Amino acid sequence: MLYEVDFLPVGEGEKSGDSICLRYSSDGGESWVVGLIDGGTQATGEKACEHIRGVYNTGIIDFIVCTHPDQDHASGLSVVLENMTVNKILMHCPWDYVDHFYDSVSDGRVTKESLIQRLKDGHAYAYKIYELAKEKDIHIHHAFSDEGEHNIPSLHIVGPSGRFYLDQVVNFRSINEITEDADTSTGMLKGLMESAKKAVNWISESWDNEKLVDPVDDATSSENNSSVVLFFDFNGKKHLFTADAGVPALEEAANRIEELGFPLQEFSFIQTPHHGSKRNIGPTILNRLVGHPLPKGTATTFSTIISASKDGEPKHPNKRVSNAFARRGAKVIATQGSTIRHYSNGSPDRGWSKADPLPFYTEVEDD
Ligand SMILES: [Zn+2]
Repeated sequence: MLYEVDFLPVGEGEKSGDSICLRYSSDGGESWVVGLIDGGTQATGEKACEHIRGVYNTGIIDFIVCTHPDQDHASGLSVVLENMTVNKILMHCPWDYVDHFYDSVSDGRVTKESLIQRLKDGHAYAYKIYELAKEKDIHIHHAFSDEGEHNIPSLHIVGPSGRFYLDQVVNFRSINEITEDADTSTGMLKGLMESAKKAVNWISESWDNEKLVDPVDDATSSENNSSVVLFFDFNGKKHLFTADAGVPALEEAANRIEELGFPLQEFSFIQTPHHGSKRNIGPTILNRLVGHPLPKGTATTFSTIISASKDGEPKHPNKRVSNAFARRGAKVIATQGSTIRHYSNGSPDRGWSKADPLPFYTEVEDD
């Protein structure tokens, strides 16, 4: 099976985002399934259109995925919908699900209608995608692991389940009326992050002395934990796309993969979640997903790509995180301003130079 996965560069400074074009073929390149996972910002949306037209040579996209409603993932997708032919959209539409959680969030003062409006206003980028889909008569598949058939070859949605999603949505900022920057949990936290960026203290880390620790359960936002997690089985080459999922969401995805009858720890590729943030991954979930640390000098067994902005360090990516992947057998590559391609043997040669993996860092950020 042929496949190509292209992580486009998104964002500047501390603002990272996702936009991943992919295509795969089971007939030697005669016909391709073309997909787009998130659209980054508006500018990235334009780049994604150019990439699919110029490199994949088509104006038709079989499916697009809006993993979660944050701006750094959702806003570019409306550009794509306006400029390309899209056959199917995988996303969540919380304004359609209010009947399922109204009772658990209402204290009686908020009507159902105003809650629906709050969700539409609070997730304006996702709602725009929804409106464009209705206008263009594009089918929306509600992207839950237990939702039923989406008819996209090789793809399994492994998270969230409908139940897990509902547990997240009731904590969305749009419902709780905390208006904060999309990718950071609270204002105070953001302040701490910024001061951390100004004065990073470095500590030493070695291959055998891991400094990454398991994050607490609510270390990342509920919006991030609501991310659609996608598992592709390209004829035995297993790929996992994690968006901004945190540990609870990744645990749930791991359970689902096992339920589907696939073993863990045999991925060819896994996306490092949430732009390499240490708030989304820890040793325990990594040991489960990809395996325990390997002896130093062991050859790499899989690849990971981190969608991180050009100047996003130390938050995106965090060196403890990239080291933790490397320690477990990953070749680690970060976008950081470049398009990064991951592909099967036999994929068309584009004459691009090979991307350099990140080194194993002996100095990592102190907390
Ligand atoms: Zn993000």
